[in-house]
Amino acid sequence: MKEKLKNVAAFIQLISKEQKSVGAVILLGAFAKATIPFLGLFFSSRILNLIIEQSYDECGRNVACMLVSQLVLGLIAQACSQNMSLQKQRGEDGIKRRMAEKAYILEYEEYEKQETMDAIRRANNTGMSMGGVEHQIELIYGMAEQLFAALYAMAFLVLLFLQVDAQAGNFFTSYAATLVLLLLYVGLFGFSAKIADAIQQLQVKVQEDNDHVNAMYGYLCSTVEDEKNAKDMRIYRLQDYFGEKNEELIGVSGKLYLEFGKKMGIHMGKNSAINQLQAALAYIFVGAKAYYGVVGIGDVLLYVGAINRLVTALTEFVKKMAAFQMGQMYLKTYEEFLNRPDMSYDGTLPVEKRDDGRYEFEFHDVSFCYPDSEMPVLSHVNLKLDIGEKLAIVGQNGAGKTTLVKLLCRLYEPTKGYITLNGIDIRKYNYREYTSVFSVVFQDFCMFSMPLDENVAAGEKVDEERLAAVLDEVALSERVAEMKDGTKSRLYNNNGEGIDISGGEAQRLAIARALYKDGPFVILDEPTAALDPIAEAEIYENFNQMVDKKTAIYISHRMSSCKFCDKIVVLEQGRIAETGTHRELLAVQGIYAKLYETQAKYYA
Ligand code: ADP
Repeated sequence: MKEKLKNVAAFIQLISKEQKSVGAVILLGAFAKATIPFLGLFFSSRILNLIIEQSYDECGRNVACMLVSQLVLGLIAQACSQNMSLQKQRGEDGIKRRMAEKAYILEYEEYEKQETMDAIRRANNTGMSMGGVEHQIELIYGMAEQLFAALYAMAFLVLLFLQVDAQAGNFFTSYAATLVLLLLYVGLFGFSAKIADAIQQLQVKVQEDNDHVNAMYGYLCSTVEDEKNAKDMRIYRLQDYFGEKNEELIGVSGKLYLEFGKKMGIHMGKNSAINQLQAALAYIFVGAKAYYGVVGIGDVLLYVGAINRLVTALTEFVKKMAAFQMGQMYLKTYEEFLNRPDMSYDGTLPVEKRDDGRYEFEFHDVSFCYPDSEMPVLSHVNLKLDIGEKLAIVGQNGAGKTTLVKLLCRLYEPTKGYITLNGIDIRKYNYREYTSVFSVVFQDFCMFSMPLDENVAAGEKVDEERLAAVLDEVALSERVAEMKDGTKSRLYNNNGEGIDISGGEAQRLAIARALYKDGPFVILDEPTAALDPIAEAEIYENFNQMVDKKTAIYISHRMSSCKFCDKIVVLEQGRIAETGTHRELLAVQGIYAKLYETQAKYYA
């Protein structure tokens, strides 16, 4: 119990960081809510006694007192409950905000791990289901209410226990009866606590067993609903396939819950039996006391009510505590996620701002293996990018071209060797500053369902002149002018108001975004893979004119796309196999020449 209470305190502390008054509101609200039924009990027994005594004036005053006090407390409880709704929402939002912030500073490589994805999914599921912060606050509120109720009930019961008549020589009017009743209750309560524990374990188990099914179910739902999949869904009649998968999952989950339901039913049955037994004992005990004249008739109502309230309060308290602890276990997934390592390779150096765009990169004997893999994807790469130079990296799929760019962008750290910018190890630079140097169009770039201009400006502040200029450069001005809301048009039609753009148009927009950013160092990582070779070559050459004097890297698995570059590096299985200009490489008749000629055959 000590450990459990510690968890409660830690949770309140965590929420109080965002919502200072949450503890006070819980206490006041729970106090008011717990007091109301006891006022009812207290006054009704008094009123009954007064009626029996025929003191009608006094009875009227008591009725008025009861109604007014219940009204006032009711209002207080209501106000606290309203306030709590707000606090619950804010508490939940606070945690979500922290998760989003964390996601941004998490090491990029963590993102590619299944484990991270699972942690994010679980943490998010937790927000929606039983462990959610809102629900946890509600449970604490409930526990506080039951605790107050138990205290009230105990106070009344102390009074009852004191009502003995040792002279009567009767078991029910003696202290012994009180003691026996007390012992019986403690025993029965022990049983209840055991059952609550068993229920908690059962719930944990069913959640754990169902975790994978939940994940799969979430994936199926999002896949079926995703607009992007609608074409394939129809052509390949995938609705049947997904329907079957869904049925399978429902079957597995159904079996689990059936088992769970059976076991829960048994526990609940035992619980009810204990509750009824406790109530029966209360009636026998208090009834006997009334029968032997130790307590008044009206008091029977009060004491039986108090005993029953105590039993329910304790049972409810234990149940809520069990649910809270279980939620706590799930909230640990938040904690787990928030405690994942931040980007460890952030430095402090600012990047020198140069108007002349003189940024020079060099790879010094760089080798790299992906985490959890022994296979070197890059081996001993030595490469210098001179200022203003246009470098092409070509090579077959899987040669390591994208990996090289990821290392340059510091999404990963080299396993061996290092990379320098203007002579300084790139790890020493502040990461935000460092990324400001780059304008990159990744292979799998993403455009968002936001206004077109904000997509290009990567933010809400848009420089209209610059936007018009880059849209012109990527030849999209006319197309954008035709759109209903012009540059303010929302991309993609996923909420009924956007416009659908073609793959080619999205690529142009991604390039526009890179141009808009105007980073002095430009990387184009095959964002044109979906285009035909001629269109790709065209985009690369146009892009070359657009970026003018900047330093640039072009990546492609098509040898012809980068003919115009100052230097071409051929990567083969993570090693630099050849370096030179297009002419030089053709002249040596090596890998480049061979691949170029093979590919050229298709375009001739
Ligand atoms: P390219 O861009 O030349 O097509 P990549 O750099 O994308 O090649 O990939 C090089 C190799 O690294 C491939 O064998 C690929 O399977 C592997 N690889 C790429 N990304 C990962 C990753 N996140 N984890 C493990 N291996 C990866």
